[in-house]
Amino acid sequence: MDRPLSGILAAPYFVLFLFSVNAHQLPGRSLLAPLLLFFAGGVAVYALAALALGRGEKACIFSFAFWLLFFGYGRIVDLVASSGIGGVGSAYLVLALFAVALSFAARSLASSHRDLLGAMRFLNVVISVLVIMAGAGIAGHYYGALTDLSDHRELGVGGVLDLDPGEDPPDIYYLVLDGYPSSDVLEDVYGYDNDYFLEGLEDLGFYVAEDARSNYPLTFLSLASALNFRYLDELRRVPGEDSDDQTIPRRLIERSDLAKSLAAVGYEIVHFNSGWGATERSPLADRNHHFGPAGDQFISAILSETPLAGISEAAARHRILETLDRLPTAAAEGEGPSFVFAHIMPPHPPYLLDADGRPLRGGTLDMAGEVWSDREGYLEQLRFVNRRVLGALETMLEEPGDTDPIVVLASDHGTAYGAETQPGGWGDPSPGLVRERTSILAAYRVPPAVEEHLYPAITPVNFTRILLSEQYEADLEPLEDRVYFTDYESPYRWRDAGELED
Ligand SMILES: [Zn+2]
Repeated sequence: MDRPLSGILAAPYFVLFLFSVNAHQLPGRSLLAPLLLFFAGGVAVYALAALALGRGEKACIFSFAFWLLFFGYGRIVDLVASSGIGGVGSAYLVLALFAVALSFAARSLASSHRDLLGAMRFLNVVISVLVIMAGAGIAGHYYGALTDLSDHRELGVGGVLDLDPGEDPPDIYYLVLDGYPSSDVLEDVYGYDNDYFLEGLEDLGFYVAEDARSNYPLTFLSLASALNFRYLDELRRVPGEDSDDQTIPRRLIERSDLAKSLAAVGYEIVHFNSGWGATERSPLADRNHHFGPAGDQFISAILSETPLAGISEAAARHRILETLDRLPTAAAEGEGPSFVFAHIMPPHPPYLLDADGRPLRGGTLDMAGEVWSDREGYLEQLRFVNRRVLGALETMLEEPGDTDPIVVLASDHGTAYGAETQPGGWGDPSPGLVRERTSILAAYRVPPAVEEHLYPAITPVNFTRILLSEQYEADLEPLEDRVYFTDYESPYRWRDAGELED
């Protein structure tokens, strides 16, 4: 315990801690890179401190203080901002305070003749206990998740379909715009007339399902269900109604029956990194479009609380803009037919881009809190999405190709203004919130033989089934269109939306 453990391990500890509290919604693979990076950071800060203060307890204590401030930054800025002292300049004020505090600490440590070995040993014990606790929490989580996965496999749901791709199979673009509600909701809740966007889609040959609802109100359930064209009833047993663990739905998204079945008949799988755990990469993909790890979900979660939040914000903007740039030609890059999947985060918060695609002033990485009630931020980003998506679709459909591509442009769920502004919130939702959250954008550009089976109130589960049956001769009966509502706390304890709306 006489080594400078606490100075070096403080940074990786914070990474472990943040992972342990978010493990239920993060893929295990997201831990390794940040852990190594911040371990290296811990070594580097200690080495620099040792140059100034000499190796040993002084440099160790200084490094520990540095990381405490570094990871406490977000909280302190919030405190200063809410106290009204700093106003809009809170971040700069806190940075200046940090600089003063750290230079004061360095001077005091440099001139101190006190024996600091006891203090370092104490910090070493503290950090060791914390590292072990976080590590045990993560190990416990994965033990549970792996058990759930093998139990789920025994339920034997899903599998690869026997598809007939026909002579000249079309490319498929499956585009998810996150948190994009129906036009009725945009009008009633956000006071926004979105008709021009839907008309633009119809001009490009889309069928717009104006009364479409999502089957589930949360991203990880909605995508898992749509991409496997079935309801997720088995999740009420495993992982069970008391769980909030997303491991199984994440697996259902990453290795969806839709992608597997198309791959089996020669489709190349093309995947765009969304920056959100389950759709950051696809293990099935022949081509994964990456945009660097800085905007990925866990790294963003770490950096968002530190002075380096701007790096993740810039990376997230870059990813969104690049995705929309590359989409139109993504299918043409391959030899055979392609299944291109892009889960596009906006218009969902964080609000990073204004209507013209420039950084939104005051835009932050906040995904939770009072985000949906920021109507201005939401509408800025929605206008950006409308313009850029229409532009991308125009370019895509101009591309010379043998066959017209099939394009799915649908949202995973609607908005949640009512959850922030009505007393019941998520837990005791008003009929208005249920309708707002489950009414979605759903536009499909499909061959006439498929389109004739679509209808205004279609849900994503049935769209996928109709597409696979009518275009690829899969043996799938349509299901009843069921719409469920639930919340993040007990996601698997969903209730029938119809009952909540009565
Ligand atoms: Zn979503």
